[in-house]
Amino acid sequence: MEYEIARHRLVNLLSRDIHDPKTLAAISKISRELFVPPELRHLAYKDEPLPIGQNQTISQPYIVALMTEKLSLTGTEKVLEIGTGSGYQTAILAELAREVHSTERIPDLTEKAAKLLHTLGYKNVFIHAAQEDLGWQPAAPYEAIITTAAAPDVPPILLEQLAIGGRMIIPVGGRWEQQLLKITKTVNGIHTENLGGCRFVSLIGKGAWETQP
Ligand code: SAH
Repeated sequence: MEYEIARHRLVNLLSRDIHDPKTLAAISKISRELFVPPELRHLAYKDEPLPIGQNQTISQPYIVALMTEKLSLTGTEKVLEIGTGSGYQTAILAELAREVHSTERIPDLTEKAAKLLHTLGYKNVFIHAAQEDLGWQPAAPYEAIITTAAAPDVPPILLEQLAIGGRMIIPVGGRWEQQLLKITKTVNGIHTENLGGCRFVSLIGKGAWETQP
């Protein structure tokens, strides 16, 4: 009950900037406290990122909502997420899309998130251990791609996995500060929109950063 009230307050706060009712409904539905470490549950409905172990974080609810809203999901899409982390963003996507594939490079997080999402009953979520190449080729192309870790540039291998007409949200820039980009792939090429400044953990691997900072 306490969590419910806090969640309701958070959604009210987010609704000042986030106008997509489906995104707000998903945030109203999902218990963020289940995705954070037990000792941080009392902070689950603050609009803040939180540590989830292994030097990684669960993103700030506002950023999750913004990235989700900008994907313009209608329910028919196959979505790719890079960086499962806690699985919270994955759950939000699972509420709004047909099928979600999510990759994670840290085995402990992969396992935990897969278990939790299974317990919550999501049948349209597929969690994969990250491969050497970014993304998840076997299920490509995707109508929407979301990268929840920051890259120095837009990785071409992810653009390849994006369907024509698809959109990708990705933080691009330096180690400590990035710009959140919305990329749309059309028959005539790539269109890029800058959604503003942000701060994400690093995307590690071929085509991104080699190591953790
Ligand atoms: N969406 C997550 C955010 C987790 S932080 C959530 O809601 O909790 C970003 C995650 O990206 C980290 O868990 C990190 O391990 C993962 N990551 C970094 N590089 C990756 C790569 N190349 N492939 C898959 N995951 C990666």
